[in-house]
Parts: sequence; structure tokens; C-alpha cells
Amino acid sequence: MNEMPKFLQRINGDLWLVEDERENMKISYRIKDVIFSAPSEFQHVMILDSYDFGRMLVLDGVVQTTSLDGHIYNEMITHIPLSIHPHPERVLIIGGGDCGAAREAAKYDHIQEIDMVEIDELVVKVCKEHLPAVSGNLADPRVHFIYADGIEHVKKIKNHYDVIIVDSSDPIGPAKQLFEYDFYHDIRDALKEDGLMVCQSQSPLFHRNVMEQTIRHVNRLFPITKVYTATVPTYPGGFWSFTLGSKKHHQLPAQPFNKKTKYVNDAILRSCFELPEFLRTK
Ligand code: SAM
Repeated sequence: MNEMPKFLQRINGDLWLVEDERENMKISYRIKDVIFSAPSEFQHVMILDSYDFGRMLVLDGVVQTTSLDGHIYNEMITHIPLSIHPHPERVLIIGGGDCGAAREAAKYDHIQEIDMVEIDELVVKVCKEHLPAVSGNLADPRVHFIYADGIEHVKKIKNHYDVIIVDSSDPIGPAKQLFEYDFYHDIRDALKEDGLMVCQSQSPLFHRNVMEQTIRHVNRLFPITKVYTATVPTYPGGFWSFTLGSKKHHQLPAQPFNKKTKYVNDAILRSCFELPEFLRTK
């Protein structure tokens, strides 16, 4: 390798990705190989092959998903809302460039339309090509790839989707506004009258303010707000939150969960809303 790609460091002869998580915390991964590295119009995009996590998608130096644990996050952000809505037909995914959420949504035969609005076409291209463990080389005709800003997309659409999944990166750069009140307001209007939405609301331990702000926004806009969690090793602290806002539906189906998955099963589906004490009481 002639030139060291951005965000990588050589330490004692080995190549490391050093993720600058916060002032007093850096997360490091030993890297075997740089599969892809280039700037897009929006961010710096890398596919790295790491020793312990396998291939990973890295945007602006921050790990988004990996072959080892990408399925945990993608199954949790997709199957929980799609199980609570009794008959989703039109689904919107905002972000989700690794295609993992769209791949999970495509497991529901009754879904007719999956719109994936991703701002950065390069992310989708490199994940389909180099990260099949997560993207599944997704080629389902119901998935429509729309390369646009999710914020602008939801502004234009009214009363259309059954479920909206906000699969965004951290609240910096192009994803900053995906954590703001006005965006959730537009999401509410883009949903049908019994629609529901879910978003990733960051770490309950390290981004407590982001999580609480997201819950507040959703709570102001939807009659039903529910928070659930999962353990995703590559996200800072490992413990991750999701916030669901619903206009009507809030119950899980009586019939057992039956999709072919690696993480979500019937017991996880029914227990993920059980919160630890420090999140139940403030
Ligand atoms: N699971 C990941 C996580 O929590 O770190 C995020 C998955 S996905 C890779 C996030 C995607 O959101 C990125 O591909 C990014 O390009 C996209 N994105 C960021 N801002 C966006 C926006 N305003 N509209 C649409 N997509 C956006």
C-alpha cells in the first residue's frame, strides 16, 4: 500500500482503524486489508477486512456495520416494526445503505413496495459488491433504490407508508437532521393513519441525550412510543436503543415469529421492550 487511507493508522507495523468515538474513548480494530476506500460527494467510504469482525462498512472513519454483527442491528430495526404492524404493504427505509434492513423487509411476502431512500449511491454500490454478508446482494424487484436526501423525500409524501424505518448513521454530517423534530413530524405525515415508524436512537449509556431527545420528539407526535434495545458489539458500548412511534398498533402478533433469521426469534421479539431499571426510571 503506497498511501495510508484516511482514518487508518500503522501501529507497531500493523494496520488499525482507530474510531474517534468521543473525547476520552477511541475504538480500534486491527485491519487485514483495505478492500475499498474513496470519498463520495457526502462522506469518506471504506470497506475494510478486519481480523475479528470480518468485512466492515466504515463512513467517515466510523464503523456502520460488519459481517460479524450487522445482522443483529438490521434484524432488530426491521422485524420488530414489521411484526407489530399487522399487515404492512408499503415500507420506507431512510438511509440503510448497507441494504441489510431492505434485505430483512423483503422476507415478508405481503409487502408490495420497499422504498429505500439513501443519500449516497456509492454506499449501496460498494456494499452490494463487497459486503454480501450484510447486503445479501439484494436484488428483489419490490426494493426501489431512490438516491436522495431522506429529509426531502418525506416532506413530499403524505399518508402513504405503513412502516418507516430510519436506519441512519450518527447525528453528524448528512444524518444530523434525521434526529430533529421537523423530520419526525414529516415522517408522521408520510405514514398512513395506522402507520408506525422506528429509528435507531443511539446508545443509552453514551448518547443518553440523543436517545432522550428522540423519545421526546416521537412522544410529542405519536400516541404510542416504545423503546427497545439490543446488543450490537461494534456500536460504542455495545448496548443500543431503538425508538418506535405508532399511530395505532402496539401489540405483537399472537402467532409465533417465523422468519429465517440469525438473531431475532419469538422470545427476543417479545422481550426486547423490557428495559433495564436505569432506563425505566429517571
Ligand atoms: N446501522 C448503521 C448505524 O447505526 O451506524 C447505519 C446504517 S446505514 C449505513 C446509514 C446510512 O444513512 C448511510 O449509508 C448514509 O449515507 C445514510 N444517510 C445519512 N444521512 C442521510 C439522509 N439525510 N438521507 C438519506 N440517507 C442518509
